[in-house]
Order: sequence, then C-alpha cells, then structure tokens
Amino acid sequence: MDLLIVGSGFFGLTIAERAASSGRKVVVIDRRHHIGGNAYSEDEPETGIEVHRYGAHLFHTSNPTVWEYVNRFTTFTGYQHRVYTNHRGVVFPLPINLGTINQFFAAAYSPDEAKVLIHELAGEFDVKSAVNLEEKAIALIGRPLYEAFIRDYTAKQWQTDPKNLPAEVISRLPVRYNYDNRYFNDTWEGLPTQGYTAWIERMADHPNIDVCLGTDFFDESQPLHKAATVGEVPIVYTGPIDRYFDDSEGALAWRTLDFDQEILPVGDFQGTPVMNYADADVPFTRIHEFKHFHPERADRYPTDKTVIMREFSRFAEHEDEPYYPVNTADDRARLLAYRELAKGEKDVLFGGRLGTYQYLDMHMAIGSALSMWNNQIA
Ligand code: FAD
Ligand code: UDP
Repeated sequence: MDLLIVGSGFFGLTIAERAASSGRKVVVIDRRHHIGGNAYSEDEPETGIEVHRYGAHLFHTSNPTVWEYVNRFTTFTGYQHRVYTNHRGVVFPLPINLGTINQFFAAAYSPDEAKVLIHELAGEFDVKSAVNLEEKAIALIGRPLYEAFIRDYTAKQWQTDPKNLPAEVISRLPVRYNYDNRYFNDTWEGLPTQGYTAWIERMADHPNIDVCLGTDFFDESQPLHKAATVGEVPIVYTGPIDRYFDDSEGALAWRTLDFDQEILPVGDFQGTPVMNYADADVPFTRIHEFKHFHPERADRYPTDKTVIMREFSRFAEHEDEPYYPVNTADDRARLLAYRELAKGEKDVLFGGRLGTYQYLDMHMAIGSALSMWNNQIA
C-alpha cells in the first residue's frame, strides 16, 4: 500500500482515483457499509425511485477542471434545481427574486422599483459591512422578507441565533431582480444520469484501489487503525478533525439531520422536487419528493406512488452523523488549534468536509482533492 485513505466520500475517492491512475496502490477505508459518503443514493425497493440517503444532492459547478473530471465517470441530465417555500400556507418561489418580491407585496414592481424598495427596507445594514447572517440577510433583502423567509427557517435549520452565524451561510443564496428562479448560478448543473452510486462506483473501480467497508479508523481491533498506520504509510484523512485528536481542543459543533421517509399512494405529492417550510410552527425545514429529480425517468417510475422525505435539523450528539459545521466564533478558534495540531502529524493530510470543518459542496470537495493531489501528493 502506497496510500491509506480514510473516508470514501468524493474527497477520498478523488484522491484514490488519481493515485491509482498514476500507478500507486491505495486502500480506502470507510466506517459505513457503502462507499460515496453523503452523496450515496439507492433505489427505494418498492417504487424503484432513486432516494438520496443523506439528503438531496444537486450537482453544480463553474469550475472547468472539475466539470471535465466528473464527466469521465458519469453523464449528467439537464436537471436545473428550483425550490419553492411555503409561508403561512402560501407558496413563493426561491431564491428571493422579483417573483417572490411582487407576490409578497402583491405588487408589480419593475426591477429598478424593487431595488429601490428593498434598499429602503434594508437601510439598517450594509452588505459590505454586515458581520453575521442576520445583518447580511437584512442588508440583502430587507427586514420583512428576512422575517418571512429566512429568520424562522434559519432558526429551525441551525437553532443558533442568526447573529452568531457567519454571513457566508446566507451568501449561498442568490437574490435576483428578475424572474429567474434557478437555485444555483453555476455554469454547469445536472444529476448523474444513472444515479450517484453508479458514478461513485466507477471512480473506485480500479485494480489499484482496495476498499474496506465497515472499518473505523479508530477501532483498534482491525488492522488499519490510527495507531498502527500513522507514520508507517502516507494517509489522507477525511473524517472529523476533532475526532482525530480525541476532541482535545473541545468538540466542534455540527448540525445533524433526521430524515422521515414515506411512500405515498399518489402520483404526485407536491409537484416539485423540494418545498421549504419557512414558518416556525412546522417542525421540519423541507420536503423532498425524489421522483421530480428525474423527469426523464417518468416511463419507469410508478404513476400511482411517490417517495417523500421530511427533513428535520438538530444539534449533533457524539454518535450522530455530522452534516453542517455550525462555525461559531468558538468553533473557529478551536479549528485554528486543530489546524496547528494537524501540521505536526507526520504524513497525514486532512481533507474534505469533515477533515477541514468546512461546508463543501461536491464540486468543492472534488476540486480541493484534485488540488491536494497535484500540489501535495503527486
Ligand atoms: P463525506 O461525503 O462526508 O465523506 C466522508 C466519509 O468519511 C464518510 O463516508 C464517513 O463514513 C467516512 N468516515 C468518517 N470518519 C471515519 C472513520 N473514523 N473511519 C472511517 N471512515 C470514516 N453538495 C452539493 O454539491 N450539492 C448538494 O445538493 C449537497 N447537498 C448536501 C446535503 C446534505 C444534507 C449534506 C450533509 C451535504 C450536501 N452536500 C451537497 C455536500 C456533499 O455531501 C459533500 O460535498 C461531499 O459529501 C463531500 O465529500 P467528503 O468526501 O468531504 O465527505
Ligand atoms: N435559508 C433560509 N430559508 C430558505 C432557504 C435557505 O433561511 O428557504 C437559509 C438557511 O439559513 C440556510 C441557508 O439559507 O442554511 C443556505 O441555504 P441552502 O439551501 O443553501 O442550504 P442547504 O441546502 O445547504 O441546507
């Protein structure tokens, strides 16, 4: 073995594929019983509808290197993500666009008129100097739209005061003064034609790659554990960085999600892939209806059944799956301490969402793995 990779998500698999293609022998371990990390999907057995096990995953990128790379393993459908939100029983388009603004104010503002209005409503804060999620959101869309669509949704999603959340969280959503309601701004977008698992399996399908599932790096009862391998073989570690150091600098805060999946005896439950629920009195943040991610599969998906998944968010306990870094000021201070410790680990590189404590989209995880391969490993 030339390289041990802990974690078979997109970060780990990209490193594995690059190393294997350049003639190195690689072992990938994962504590789960499947590869692919959080992007893993499987066909729900009763309906055959592809379900994203760890929450809906939409691929999008503006990075030509990443786009060329991912197309080696899969083709993509023409899917373009659009989201709607239910506020007080009325459905509005997201991200906030001229359609949302005009529907909310029951008006017919032109783009310039809407800009003037939002500017007046946003007067308390300025986009450039806004230091947290609440200030940034109000600066971008004004207080009334913030209170309707962002405040309570964010409270459900993060259970953290929006004043303590970084402004970047809300910068993920564009604000548009036209009727374009595409969720993402990126050049390329789509879903893997044959599903995520076929894509992921192709990345791992190389004679130089051995995959060991159900293998936890911290489990000393199996051969490839931390104490037996660090310093003996180069390692790329994509698990949680705090866990690697036994939480010595304090645990980093994560949000986890609970998914409530249901098969319903109707052909179409909500008419769209994702419906957000903006209000505090609905306990879940959104409902996914998976058949709508693949309209091109209409002839093989059932017309009298559908699979929906309600998504609930809460703080992760020690045994929960960490999904979203909360990233408060305390967390950032702890992360700096962990980064210092990481520098001292001989031949161990930390990567990916968990290993760097960053919210990375798939294209970012793949892009940063390609950079790590080219700049630090190759
Ligand atoms: P992961 O996919 O988390 O993989 C890490 C792997 O390491 C896991 O398989 C884990 O089991 C393994 N591991 C951890 N600890 C150990 C250990 N001790 N021993 C062995 N193995 C270990 N991105 C998008 O581009 N579009 C989206 O729509 C999107 N939606 C998302 C929705 C949710 C709910 C979440 C959580 C993420 C979403 N993402 C999305 C982000 C996407 O999942 C990540 O970019 C991608 O999974 C990052 O890959 P990764 O390899 O860094 O981490
Ligand atoms: N958000 C919100 N209302 C919505 C959708 C998003 O307040 O209807 C906020 C929320 O704080 C969320 C952030 O915008 O965490 C980013 O949204 P995105 O849809 O990118 O979140 P993700 O899909 O990563 O959960």
